[in-house]
This record gives sequence, structure tokens and C-alpha cells, in this order.
Amino acid sequence: MGAFDIATLQPKLVHQFASVIARGQLSQAYVFNGASGTGKHDLAAWIALRLFCEHVQKNGEPDYTCSECQRVLTGNHPDVVILQTALRSLKVDDIRDMKAEMAKTGVERNQRVFIIDDADKMTAQAANSLLKFYEEPVPGMVIILTTTAKNQLLPTILSRAQVINFPPPRRETVIAALDQSGVAPSLAAVAAALSADVQTAQTVAADETFQQQVAKVQTVIGLVAAHDDEAFVQVQTTLVPLAPKPADQQVLLSLIALVYQDALNQHFHAKVPATFGGPLIELLADQSEKQLEGALSAVLKAQVQLSQNVTFQSTTEQLILTLLEG
Ligand SMILES: [Zn+2]
Repeated sequence: MGAFDIATLQPKLVHQFASVIARGQLSQAYVFNGASGTGKHDLAAWIALRLFCEHVQKNGEPDYTCSECQRVLTGNHPDVVILQTALRSLKVDDIRDMKAEMAKTGVERNQRVFIIDDADKMTAQAANSLLKFYEEPVPGMVIILTTTAKNQLLPTILSRAQVINFPPPRRETVIAALDQSGVAPSLAAVAAALSADVQTAQTVAADETFQQQVAKVQTVIGLVAAHDDEAFVQVQTTLVPLAPKPADQQVLLSLIALVYQDALNQHFHAKVPATFGGPLIELLADQSEKQLEGALSAVLKAQVQLSQNVTFQSTTEQLILTLLEG
């Protein structure tokens, strides 16, 4: 299940399914829809654990340790069938094999769980093949389709399933997961502000260029806050070398926006986790609301310019001039 468990990532959904299962009201088909990293597969696996676990806890959680749980966790449970592919599409043959499995009754109990990950990868033929079975479900059978793009599923599939939308995890949750995995606190909150997907945020935080970008943006904005014209020079000498690719350039501007957003939050004592925190943000937070909002809109304008193919250097130099005047 990974170091960060689904009950922490999606507490409401786990609670909801725990209660649905306790009441014996599990539907036969679900579409789990949500961005990557929102725990769709993990919740599907949790449902399988919960259904097969021999020692369900008082709080409705599986124990993760009994032999049934172990078989689910290691992918060796005969009544839990998972279909996933690294290829671009799920073909009709894949579905045919799964249907052959579905046709068997539960090997050990009258209960079977089928999980199809990235169900939007199903070809139209594959989806139609699944549909026939999907229309006549067997008692005790649960099919869970996970997808990042439910609109790419056939309407006939969607209409016969209960669609569960997975919200992005709260920022605090992603930060906690990053802390747990050993990401430095000074980077965790920044990476979490850029991605709500724990894995993506981990990759971002581990990237050396990103670490330098975070440090240098604070240096340059520190100069701006001190009304030091050196900030303008540092665009070319410090920021440009850290942003060779368009993606890096967007990240750098996003980081500048996050600095001012952080200051604005602190200015208003908003109850959100600090992104950068520290003396720089405290200094900026003393500026007026008008100044801070002016700075944010200047960054937004720079982001638009960059997307319109103005060079990063001239966009950012213009931005720093505006900020120095502000
Ligand atoms: Zn168990």
C-alpha cells in the first residue's frame, strides 16, 4: 500500500466505503475518477482487503496482516483480479481473459473483486466486450474501474456504474507524506504547492535544479524586498541559467508567485500552511495588501507573456523591474 496509506490520503472516501460495506450495500460497479496520485487504485485494493480480511478491526479497517490480507497485498488472492497495462491501450483480448475469470464463481467465498486500472485505455471493442458482462453482474462481484478521464469512458459504462470522484488530497496531507518520506521541510511545502500528487511532489523535491531554483528565487526576491537593483542583474546571472527549458521557466515564475502568495496569506493571517515561511516572507508580509496583490498580478502577467513566447530573460527582467518599483 505504500508508506502513505489510503485512510490518510482519502479519509472521507475510506469512511464512506467502510460504512457502505458494513451495511452490505456495496454496488456492483464503480468508476473511480480522479487525478493521478489521488489513491484510486489504493482505495480499490482497500475494498478488496476489507471484504476478504479475516480480522476486520473495530474501526472498520482491515488488519493488513492476516493471510487473506497478505494474499491481496501480494497480488496472490484468487478472488481479486487486477487488470492493468503499461501499454497505451487495453485490448479486447485482455478483457476476454478477465471475463473468463469473472465467469468463475468465487473460489473461496461468494465474493470477487475486479479492478481495471486506467479504464480509459480500453479500446471501444474492449469496452463493448466488458459491457455485456457488466450488464449482468454476478452476485458478490464488484467491478471497479479507475480513470483519470471518466469522459473518455463509454456513456453506457458510466451510466451503469456509480461514479466516485476523488478530490486532490489536502496540502497538509501531501506535506506530511513528503516529511514522512524524508523530504527536507524547507522543500516539502513548496513541492506540495506545485503538485498534489505525492509521488510527483517527491520527484520534484529530489531534483537538484528545483532545490537551487527554490533557494535562488528567495535570494532574488530578498534583493527586491531590500530595493536592491542587484535583483535585476541576478535575472541574467542566476535565474536564466537555472531555467534552460520552458518547463523550468514556468516553475521559476510559479515559485515567485508562491513567494508573494505566501506573504499575502501571512499578511492576512490565513489558516493555511506556510509555503516558504521565514524572515523573507515576514518582511514581505509587512507590505500593504495593494503592493502584494500588485506583485502577484505582475507575476501572472509575466506567466502570460512567457506562454506567448516572449523570452524568459526579458519577461523576468521586466517583472523584477515592476516589483522593484512596487
Ligand atoms: Zn486481514
